[in-house]
Amino acid sequence: MSSSPTPAPPAPPAPAGPPLQKETTAGNYFVANYPPFAVWKPDALPALESVLDRNPGLDAPRLGLYTHIPFCRKRCHFCYFRVYTDKNAEEIKGYLDALLSELEVYARKPWIQGRKPRFLYFGGGTPSYLSPDQLRFLSDGMKRLLPWDEAEEVTFEGEPGTLTDHKLRAIRDLGVTRLSLGIEHFDDHILEVNGRAHRSKEVHRAYAYAREIGFPQINIDLIAGMVEETEDRWKEAVAKAVELRPDSLTVYQMEVPYNTGIYQQMKAAGKLVAPVADWETKRRWMDYAYQEFEKVGYTVTSGTTIVRDPAKVKFVYRDGLFSGTDILSIGVASFGHLGGVHYQNHHDFQPYLDAIRSGGLPVYRAYTTSEDERYIREFMLQLKLGSVGVDGFTRKFGQDPRERFAGPLAAIRSQGFLVETPGRIGVTREGLLQIDRLLLEFFKPEHRTGRYA
Ligand code: SF4
Repeated sequence: MSSSPTPAPPAPPAPAGPPLQKETTAGNYFVANYPPFAVWKPDALPALESVLDRNPGLDAPRLGLYTHIPFCRKRCHFCYFRVYTDKNAEEIKGYLDALLSELEVYARKPWIQGRKPRFLYFGGGTPSYLSPDQLRFLSDGMKRLLPWDEAEEVTFEGEPGTLTDHKLRAIRDLGVTRLSLGIEHFDDHILEVNGRAHRSKEVHRAYAYAREIGFPQINIDLIAGMVEETEDRWKEAVAKAVELRPDSLTVYQMEVPYNTGIYQQMKAAGKLVAPVADWETKRRWMDYAYQEFEKVGYTVTSGTTIVRDPAKVKFVYRDGLFSGTDILSIGVASFGHLGGVHYQNHHDFQPYLDAIRSGGLPVYRAYTTSEDERYIREFMLQLKLGSVGVDGFTRKFGQDPRERFAGPLAAIRSQGFLVETPGRIGVTREGLLQIDRLLLEFFKPEHRTGRYA
């Protein structure tokens, strides 16, 4: 999975409020950012330039670096990211050159110059699609421009079928501390009908190699509710995941955005309901995964994450993203946040390359957040962790969240999902299982567009 959704085609009229429908219909369900991508516009680009030309001074926020590798062996039917399955070695080399040129432009800007990333994330697409030589070429070039020697976490997404022993060693040698394996399921039939390139045999081989090599943290991804999922298959998938004893686990509930193969098939067949489990069933399956892992000592640390030892396992990238820190993002379709300005790069390969080759930044839309929007964003994103501390928000934004969000909190309370303890605001387990739906309560009315990408 990746952090770079591609823009969706025009959506149907917005729903009047949070989607409560039982069936899985088309559209983005998960809230990844705020304000939503749909309101980011090209005319806000000068705001990004003006941030980049400023000196951040001694109060510079921590810096994260996200790098998007948009190549995959095959396009999964549920995928809504910008990925390419047809690029040859020369085109990939051209892309890696472009990434380095893009980073070089940023590294010279006063806002970035001299700052060292504290966390890095290689997402996609499939970063592990690159060969060991390509990976070394890219990382050596990046380190020359922005040294990583102070990085607390380097995350790398891998597709099991691309991870040979040799490549895993090369990935570890880059300095990767957190390997995130896109397993999604262990059943070969489910993997096949959902268009995944790998099979369970490759999962077990890659996982064993990765353990042997000694990555400090191995995360695995699972998806609840893929096409043809059944109660028994899901239980078996969870049992196999438990057997692996990963350091952490990310479980997603299947959504079907407009730019997926599944939606194209629905459209062609004139269907409004996606051929996947309904939301209630997906929530039950998620809860089942939570419980099975809790039985063996794991802790649920957010709506999507389950962790073996919360004292040891950190999510530095996620926590940086959720607390509004600077994230410099490079690569086609990637999006970042610098000095309070959101931005996203061109979402197609050629315009992205053309912009870089002409010496400019490949950014195509941006959005300057107000302080209130940053308050909403950080509060919503942190609520995905289950609960937030009141004092930290009051200190940072000068207003108590219980006052600022009195309306949304009352709405969540009336649905029975709010948990209020001295100094904390949180949600029940049932609320956590549908947290993204509840987060719509916090959106300003003008941002309730009904989709987020
Ligand atoms: S592996 Fe599948 S879901 Fe992941 S980015 Fe590639 S095509 Fe998309």
